Amino acid sequence: MSEVQQGHSGLKIQRWAKRYRISFRLFAALLIAVAINILVSTWFDTPKMSSIRRDNQHLKAQYHLLQEKIRSAEAALSDVKHRDQFVYRPLLGIDTLSIPQVYLDYNDSKYASLPEGEYNDMIEEGWRSLDRLTREIYYASRSLDDTQDLAENKEEFSTVIPAIWPIDRTKLKRVSSLYGMRRHPRYGYWKMHDGVDLSAPKGTPVYATGNAVVAESHWEHGYGQLIELNHGFGYRTRYAHLSKRYVSPGDSVTRGQVIGEVGNTGVSTGPHLHYEVCFRGYTTNPIHYFNKDVSPESYIELMKQIEESMKK
Ligand SMILES: [Zn+2]
Repeated sequence: MSEVQQGHSGLKIQRWAKRYRISFRLFAALLIAVAINILVSTWFDTPKMSSIRRDNQHLKAQYHLLQEKIRSAEAALSDVKHRDQFVYRPLLGIDTLSIPQVYLDYNDSKYASLPEGEYNDMIEEGWRSLDRLTREIYYASRSLDDTQDLAENKEEFSTVIPAIWPIDRTKLKRVSSLYGMRRHPRYGYWKMHDGVDLSAPKGTPVYATGNAVVAESHWEHGYGQLIELNHGFGYRTRYAHLSKRYVSPGDSVTRGQVIGEVGNTGVSTGPHLHYEVCFRGYTTNPIHYFNKDVSPESYIELMKQIEESMKK
């Protein structure tokens, strides 16, 4: 090998070593960059990540808002249902609509296809309450259709329903006892009171509260002089402790007709009318049938009167 040749190969090796050093440094720098990137992204969000996180928070907030709206829709619907069940239907004398399936939740398999993940429970609960709401809306709409049909076809209902006060309210001294549990005014023990007691002077005229046929007119222990009217469609009304009775069983009476006079007969502590409304054999709160002329405010006023009269 000549000296020239030897010098040549030495230069080659030096170049090689230089290239190798550069590549190695580049590679090391890359490794360090990757390591720093991993460390930084573990403790700090990249701009993209924090934007995703922000979106996620926003979506969650929107979702909770949606659930709030479902809840308030449920509340509004339950108000409609209550009026349907306790005002319109009793007024028309018809039973509550029965669609039992409405209250059954759908099968779990309906929700099986929902994506798995952190928010699965939240989303599934949302779906379930929306489904519930949909079924209840269906029920309410069916029920109101029924009620509307009857209201159109059975206008005579409105003439028989016990819908007025049984005495002139200017003669009313006070409502001495409301419907519900109370301490017996004479015997002191707690007992169900099946009607309302309207205190008024002896001799105050007592009116039939709806068109009816007289079912009973006699003396009965406890009730004293008693009249019972049969209004049809499941409704009956009773007027007790009377001083006079003007009607006999079988008589037809019309709303507002005088059927007797307020008295103090039977188990009674002073002149008053005990008035009951029965629907299909069960007593109901007569106050609900005064709803045309009793506002919620005057109902609260009545309740106050009662509380005060019970303290005496
Ligand atoms: Zn009574």
